[in-house]
Amino acid sequence: MAKIELKDIRKSFGAVEVIKGVSLDIRSGEFMVFVGPSGCGKSTLLRLISGLEDITAGEMSFDGQVVNALTPSKRGIAMVFQSYALYPHMTVYENMAFGLTLEKGKPKEEIKKRVHRAAEMLQISDYLDRLPKQLSGGQRQRVAIGRAITRDPRVFLFDEPLSNLDAALRVATRIEIAKLHESMRDTTMVYVTHDQVEAMTLADRICVLRDGLVEQVGTPMELYEKPDSMFVAGFIGSPK
Ligand code: ADP
Ligand code: MG
Repeated sequence: MAKIELKDIRKSFGAVEVIKGVSLDIRSGEFMVFVGPSGCGKSTLLRLISGLEDITAGEMSFDGQVVNALTPSKRGIAMVFQSYALYPHMTVYENMAFGLTLEKGKPKEEIKKRVHRAAEMLQISDYLDRLPKQLSGGQRQRVAIGRAITRDPRVFLFDEPLSNLDAALRVATRIEIAKLHESMRDTTMVYVTHDQVEAMTLADRICVLRDGLVEQVGTPMELYEKPDSMFVAGFIGSPK
């Protein structure tokens, strides 16, 4: 479980500020979706939450603990990217178990149990002995998600995980992710997309980002029915 608090978060690359003071509370166990046009800072904000990138200013805490200086593994996060980045020479099982084998003193049986449980959740149990190249794009993305699940993260971060899939697989995998949220109610999920349908169907709440700032936060219905601006309306809602 983790409640994530962002207080006036800023990030600059050189002289260019790309996150310009984001304050946002993400509730424990919530599915929060970041949407916004390309280049508005969605991926950067997610990387800041993950700890893969350092914030320039502000304060970030998980369950009241300031995590500004903590590495990704110390934060208890797992991340799924747009491209699945599986190890090509390892089987599905090995890919899913790899992170756990790095944790010192984790018993083999425990690792096996976790991998099988994740594989079952994602219906990839039949592919555990295969290599990534023997899988379809959709199956590979499930392995990437499964690998993240085995880490038992308190925060699950997704950066456009469906954008490399064709339309049918996108829908199927989206449904898998919705089920995942149902079965991992203790895990806070933050999900980046530029796809309105994904945002509307998956989110407990949506955060609309515009040029490095929060434009509006609310449930899908709130944003749809009461967009604060034409920008939000254009993205999600009906015109004001
Ligand atoms: P989004 O994911 O919403 O498309 P990004 O977070 O990837 O947007 O990028 C936001 C802005 O920050 C863009 O203008 C991008 O060029 C810039 N940016 C992202 N990462 C870096 C980096 N490592 N160095 C310099 N500029 C970056
Ligand atoms: Mg991005």
